[in-house]
Amino acid sequence: MGDVRIKTPNLDDIFEKWKQSAVRKDRKKMEKQFGTKGAVFSLDAISAAEYVVPPALKGAAIYFSIKKTVAPAKGKEENLVMAPRVSRETFYSFKGKNVNKDNWKGDEKVPIYESIAAVPCKTCGGKGYIDDKCRSCKGSGKIEENLNVLEGEDQNKVKKVFSYPCGECYGTGKVQNPCKECGGHKNLYKFEIQPVPFQSVVTGVPVLHSSLQTKYEKEIGKDLQDLIESVEGIKFNNFKDLDDKAEGSLGYWDKNVKKTINSAGSDYKNYEKDKDTQIVTQIYLFPMIQLNCKSKKGSKFEIYSIGSDQKFMIFSNF
Ligand SMILES: [Zn+2]
Ligand SMILES: [Zn+2]
Repeated sequence: MGDVRIKTPNLDDIFEKWKQSAVRKDRKKMEKQFGTKGAVFSLDAISAAEYVVPPALKGAAIYFSIKKTVAPAKGKEENLVMAPRVSRETFYSFKGKNVNKDNWKGDEKVPIYESIAAVPCKTCGGKGYIDDKCRSCKGSGKIEENLNVLEGEDQNKVKKVFSYPCGECYGTGKVQNPCKECGGHKNLYKFEIQPVPFQSVVTGVPVLHSSLQTKYEKEIGKDLQDLIESVEGIKFNNFKDLDDKAEGSLGYWDKNVKKTINSAGSDYKNYEKDKDTQIVTQIYLFPMIQLNCKSKKGSKFEIYSIGSDQKFMIFSNF
């Protein structure tokens, strides 16, 4: 069996498909970019011949999809601190929602806002203070002082005692000193440092490598994933096969296509080695075409086609 040559869609068909989808998506924008003042807006007047700036660029896209299993970190720690230390910490709140590990910037274990809880201080029994004996009155509650009294006509000197309530303890004999354990805040506060709740399985992550522009690979990959059944490419079970047949299948070849196949291949190998990753589709090779366009108003944009003349999808940054 010889190579299966895959035919690329022609420029007019790509432009037509883009026109239809662009007008469905945002008719006002199309009218603004391509309309004529005073004339009824019509798609027929918008032609590839007029608005595509040659040459059309040919390239290739390689697509496969992976499934990721991410094991969340295990175990949690508990911290018990004085009240003012709580606000020095940065807390996280997930509200039962999982986190995609690919988008997570930060530690794998973090302090959790919802875990903050008051724990009554054991040292002071949750009062915030300790009852100590008053030093001024030595715990008696009274201050006693000698008083000179002269009695009767003879003015005999008699010693009397004058006693009054202690002003330090208001006569109670006790003073309240802030508890050193809780700093007078009655409670200590505990919080947990828990593993970030990573999604355990991320299904169907598209991986796309293209030899044309790289700026939109992520978006194109996602679109492809949704439309994979309606886009025609050549499927391979391994990269060696793809490498052997790519040139014949595409019917054209350049340095960038070769580079793209190599980098997609090493990407694929890394996923094969990664025990958290499983490759869940075959490898697809798609012809790709880039049309550089300029609207009537002068806005530049690109249209990409991916797939064969029979089944292709378009992507545009218009
Ligand atoms: Zn205390
Ligand atoms: Zn006292």
